[in-house]
Amino acid sequence: MSEQWDVIVVGGGNAGFSAAHAAAQDGGRVLLLEKAPRAWMGGNSYFTAGAMRTVHGGLDDLGPLVEGMTDDRFDRTDLAPYTAEDFTADLQRVTQGRTDPELSQILAAESRQTIEWLHRTGLRFELMYHRQAYEVDGRFRFWGGLAVGVVGGGKGLIAQHLAAAEAGGVTVRFGASVSGLLTGDAGEVTGVTVAGTNGPEELQARATVLASGGFEANPQMRAGYLGAGWDLALVRGTPYNTGDGIRMALDTGAQPYGNWSGCHSVAWDAGAPATGDLELTNQLTRGGYPFGVVVNAAGRRFVDEGADFRNYTYAKYGAEILKQPGSTAVQIFDAKTAPLLRPEEYLSEGVTHHTADTLEELADLAGLDQAQLLATMKEYNAAVTDDAFDPTVKDGKRTVGVTPPKSNWAQPIDAAPFHAYPVTCGITFTFGGVRIDAQARVLDTSGHAVPGLYAAGELVGGLFYFNYPGGSGLTAGSVFGRRAGRAAVADRG
Ligand SMILES: Cc1cc2nc3c(=O)[nH]c(=O)nc-3n(C[C@H](O)[C@H](O)[C@H](O)COP(=O)(O)OP(=O)(O)OC[C@H]3O[C@@H](n4cnc5c(N)ncnc54)[C@H](O)[C@@H]3O)c2cc1C
Repeated sequence: MSEQWDVIVVGGGNAGFSAAHAAAQDGGRVLLLEKAPRAWMGGNSYFTAGAMRTVHGGLDDLGPLVEGMTDDRFDRTDLAPYTAEDFTADLQRVTQGRTDPELSQILAAESRQTIEWLHRTGLRFELMYHRQAYEVDGRFRFWGGLAVGVVGGGKGLIAQHLAAAEAGGVTVRFGASVSGLLTGDAGEVTGVTVAGTNGPEELQARATVLASGGFEANPQMRAGYLGAGWDLALVRGTPYNTGDGIRMALDTGAQPYGNWSGCHSVAWDAGAPATGDLELTNQLTRGGYPFGVVVNAAGRRFVDEGADFRNYTYAKYGAEILKQPGSTAVQIFDAKTAPLLRPEEYLSEGVTHHTADTLEELADLAGLDQAQLLATMKEYNAAVTDDAFDPTVKDGKRTVGVTPPKSNWAQPIDAAPFHAYPVTCGITFTFGGVRIDAQARVLDTSGHAVPGLYAAGELVGGLFYFNYPGGSGLTAGSVFGRRAGRAAVADRG
């Protein structure tokens, strides 16, 4: 006899836990199946900084939601409101107008109430002073539309989710790799099969929520959909997101949707392991490039390091690094710009790093074409304008007459010691997936809902194209995970 559940959730990351909480809170008997062993629980969500983009009305509005505020800090903080229109405009701008209008509108409009719901469910939040604010003239100024994060980052997020799920009556099974969907005569999804050494185990459910991530950890799918060279990218997070849920959904007739040739990828420590490091997690990111210069092995610049706040460029610059010779690049800073780098990313143990008193020596240590690097830096330094430097606004302190330009935060790199950080492309998650409607029901290729099948998180396509506003992935997983969980439990009939 196979077991009968109200809702089975496939995948125990942020989207899956959000769906499980919502279904259990509405009275469902919920089973969450996670492929990874407990030691690797939490999927990509574990590896995050826990940053969650949300609409808010400024400091007074967020005060009751966040922990760790002292009066002194509160009085010295500048945090501009971030509206649903701002969130939607950011999504449209970075996706070049392609984001699904209905899904992106829901994401922006429900971001705040979803964070409050997570808070009521047991998650703890704080303002991200350490990542999203700089202290200027004695005041902490937030920048880039992202202010709220989970206490403890991704590790805290998953610990809090698991505790809330257990307290809420959700049954969680680790090491349970879902290998297929069970379907009835009318094509409705009636449960799942779980791979096992004695053959697949069948588990019945009135509704199933797929939340098993993208295909970023599957080199064959990366090469096939993202293109040549992507099989060689390093994976920033879990090795378990191999596209299983997407494949199962497509096998039952789900509609492929979104930017299948696109992904989120960043500048990542060139010495990082092939997949995520459970201890260092997000610390292998190198997000300080807006304050320095990025060159390839030939000693040439190839991106506008200051095109926008890091939150709006970091997710597309990994792909630019992948295109360079050897798929590597080097970030260069000097004595005046290095103090702007975040210690947890640039000063942790194990960071691949070279320091030298001259650029000549630095070029040799980092394996760069020395003559070309010196020419590049001479031209760059001479092209920097005299405008005032301010890391909290797009300061317009730029280069004139060099290609590519640097549009903001350009300072001459001329004060020893010099620092070089070798980076490569680290893939975060893939943008292509299955199509859902507003209730997170999976749609088939005719546009009809597949009965009994819901989806949320990375495996949903249509929200992100080419690029991504930082902190949107977790919020999207929770907004649509919550919708999926509610709708799935209402499916009990
Ligand atoms: C280093 C890093 C930093 C990031 N920082 C942020 C950030 O600060 N803010 C932000 O918004 N986003 C961030 N992201 C992106 C974020 O991780 C994702 O958008 C989000 O976590 C996706 O959640 P998810 O639940 O869809 O996927 P996941 O959290 O990856 O969960 C999917 C789960 O499904 C499981 N699974 C896979 N296949 C099966 C199967 N066959 N059967 C059962 N289970 C299966 C996996 O093991 C995994 O646990 C970051 C990502 C990385 C890698």
